Amino acid sequence: MPRIAPAGKELRADIKYPRPDARTVASRESRIRRNLTAWYRRARRDLPWRRTDDPYAILVAEFLLQRTRVASGTAYYERFLARFPTVQDLAAASEADVLRVWEGLGFYRRARNLHAAARAIVRDHGGRVPASFERLKSLPGIGPYTAGAVASIAFSERVPAVDGNAVRVISRLERIGGPESTLRGRVSEVVRHLLPSRSPGSFNQALMELGATVCTPGSPRCPACPVRADCGARRHGEVDRYPPRGRRRPTPTVPVAFALVEDAGRVLLMRRPESAILGGFWALPGGEVPSPESGRDRLRELLRDALGIAVKVGPEVETVRRTFSHKRWTGSVYRCELRERPGRLPSDARWATPGDIRALPLAPVHRDVLSRMTPGSSLRTA
Ligand code: SF4
Repeated sequence: MPRIAPAGKELRADIKYPRPDARTVASRESRIRRNLTAWYRRARRDLPWRRTDDPYAILVAEFLLQRTRVASGTAYYERFLARFPTVQDLAAASEADVLRVWEGLGFYRRARNLHAAARAIVRDHGGRVPASFERLKSLPGIGPYTAGAVASIAFSERVPAVDGNAVRVISRLERIGGPESTLRGRVSEVVRHLLPSRSPGSFNQALMELGATVCTPGSPRCPACPVRADCGARRHGEVDRYPPRGRRRPTPTVPVAFALVEDAGRVLLMRRPESAILGGFWALPGGEVPSPESGRDRLRELLRDALGIAVKVGPEVETVRRTFSHKRWTGSVYRCELRERPGRLPSDARWATPGDIRALPLAPVHRDVLSRMTPGSSLRTA
């Protein structure tokens, strides 16, 4: 039974609180379950992944929606399933095809992990999504959240699925403070205890839905909340204290430089290494450089050493600004003039026609650059 902090006190992991009366706790818990599930039946948004019981489609949705807003995720979900309607279709696809459909959504590791999970399902599980939390968690790229969501929603297993929204709701409901590093684990234990044996997936989704639509970070709509009568943070006027906020480190800005090299209506592209940002995508040659001033020299060296191409680095034609989860790129694309026609390119480089550019997974920052080029350019793709 989870502990409840005394009035005016925050629940702390290092203190043993007296157990509240068991009947009081049980009736509060069943009221929370009842009110939350009734609200979810009434108020939940009609989203495409909530209209299916296909475990594969649910798995796709759970990967796709991590760190993605529902509004942008919906179109990608429909496009992804139209292109790869079964786990066998996804397993048989090339990584380039998967990245092309995912392009623009960000967090591309998710796409590669989903692809790897599909291949493992076909190879090791007879093409059926495993029906238990533990076996789901053994698939590549699947952590406790995704395993919990698929196991509870698709297979009604009584396991928590705790995303950031659920953390916020439970932290406020139970006034769970303490270090951010242990918060999710403590919230998961509370959810595990609250989960009903019937439709645990709906309960998990109700918590997440409440966090997404009512118990929002900045301005929760407490008067409209189905569990307001049992909310500790609300009762003590401490909603803005939960969940505890760790100190955010500032996002570092890193200089980048890229080369736009054209030849006979084609543009030179390189495939980015798997371990790099935008790994697996095709992109203009270049990347991070030690300083903005060193960009031109670094591009000249890269093209010479990696591709055997001699160029004159010309003027800046575009600026690059892109924020990722842990760093920010800022820099330039330079038009480069070929000094001599190169020989055979290595397999991670190619001359791409406008048709190739449309078909390839292309770093979104460079698709933007190429699509902004003047109508007179032979490289315009959009
Ligand atoms: Fe969140 Fe307010 Fe509901 Fe408490 S009452 S769970 S703070 S919306």
